[in-house]
Amino acid sequence: MKHTTNRERSRVAHERAKRVTPGGVNSAARAFGAVGGHPIVIAHAEGPWLTDIDGNRYIDYIGSWGPMILGHQPPSVKRAIQAALEHGTSYGAPTEAETRLAELIIEAVPSVEMVRLVSSGTEATLSTIRLARGVTGRDKIVKFAGNYHGHVDSLLVSAGSAAATLSVPNSPGVTTGTSQDTLVREYNDVAGLEATFAQHPSSIAAVILEPVCGNMGCVTPTPEFLQSLRRLTSQYGALLVFDEVMCGFRVAFGGAQSLFQADPDLTVMGKIVGGGLPLAAFGGKRWIMEHVLPAGKVFQAGTLSGNPLATAAGIATLEALRDQPPYELLERQSARLAEGLASSAQRHGLPFQLNRVGSMMTLFFTDQPVTGWETAKRCNTQRFAQFFWGLMDRGVYWPCSQFEALFVSSQHDDQLIDLTLEAADEALAELG
Ligand SMILES: *Cc1c(COP(=O)(O)O)cnc(C)c1O
Repeated sequence: MKHTTNRERSRVAHERAKRVTPGGVNSAARAFGAVGGHPIVIAHAEGPWLTDIDGNRYIDYIGSWGPMILGHQPPSVKRAIQAALEHGTSYGAPTEAETRLAELIIEAVPSVEMVRLVSSGTEATLSTIRLARGVTGRDKIVKFAGNYHGHVDSLLVSAGSAAATLSVPNSPGVTTGTSQDTLVREYNDVAGLEATFAQHPSSIAAVILEPVCGNMGCVTPTPEFLQSLRRLTSQYGALLVFDEVMCGFRVAFGGAQSLFQADPDLTVMGKIVGGGLPLAAFGGKRWIMEHVLPAGKVFQAGTLSGNPLATAAGIATLEALRDQPPYELLERQSARLAEGLASSAQRHGLPFQLNRVGSMMTLFFTDQPVTGWETAKRCNTQRFAQFFWGLMDRGVYWPCSQFEALFVSSQHDDQLIDLTLEAADEALAELG
């Protein structure tokens, strides 16, 4: 396959960026910290393709870290943004589009009866945690190691890829006071969760988790784990919060909860729900959501919340996903990709695990099943870094950390999957 190793313009642009922005990036995940070298700087994106400023073209398996399930610049979304732009970019006052998007979310996500729109996944989780504490009058939050819920202070403990990659499980600046009410347990550990509730029977406000994990690489919950989460939170009067920022509208139109027939109290959404613009949401049972200001007393506000361009993109994206569901196609293409990767790794004698739910997956370089952070962190990250650059050199843009899931879009056709598998086979052959 063609080698795309000339990334000189990106290198220079990144050097320039580093002088004015910490690390030269506006989100830590973009810095290629776990794989060495510098990021490529993007000039253009279309369908499944990314083009960097050196003119290299890559098949994109990041899709802006999740939002671009329809590929880049899907025509209906682009038209919707253009149409919204004709009327203004921000009003700080209600629009009908916000209600339309809320109705679409409620129609899609089984447990959600009311929604509040915000601007980022981080904002959505922090508002959700405040709400859970406000409603229950309790302080403690249970989270799981390797799960990322945005950079909310109280949740920035054992927070998956970003933190793991930088080797700072607890960020400086997060006070002991803030993190002392966060209890961290191992994902899929039912006994650990039971013990936690037995130890703190009346002080846990909520349990929050990624119901399909993407932020330690793709890790799936066992049915027993999902059942125990609902049973224990109900029994002890805590709220169950699904952080579906990544897997919502991705693993199924109704998210992981519709796939697993789960019934959380609150759901956090982001990424796909904003159609590639800055928009996120949280929602859930009406009796809980009615505690949010101004219906209730739990403070929540945002100057750009429900922004008209973002709501237009969100509505167009959800309507496309509802009216021409790509999920069967995504399943087929993703299964082909996963099977091809697994057979290449096997052929080259490399120990691996492949975890996948629909169009989210991770090829882990380890011989042990990956079920949580304890098992994820045993992966050979050096081998991953080598594999990553092998793919980059062959025009395949892959998540730049072993602890991130990749995403297939509806624009990844048979030919692109074949090209990817050819590149992956060559890159895997170079490892060993
Ligand atoms: C991306 C992500 C967030 C944070 O969303 P931002 O929009 O980056 O703030 C929260 N939770 C999960 C599961 C995510 O994947």
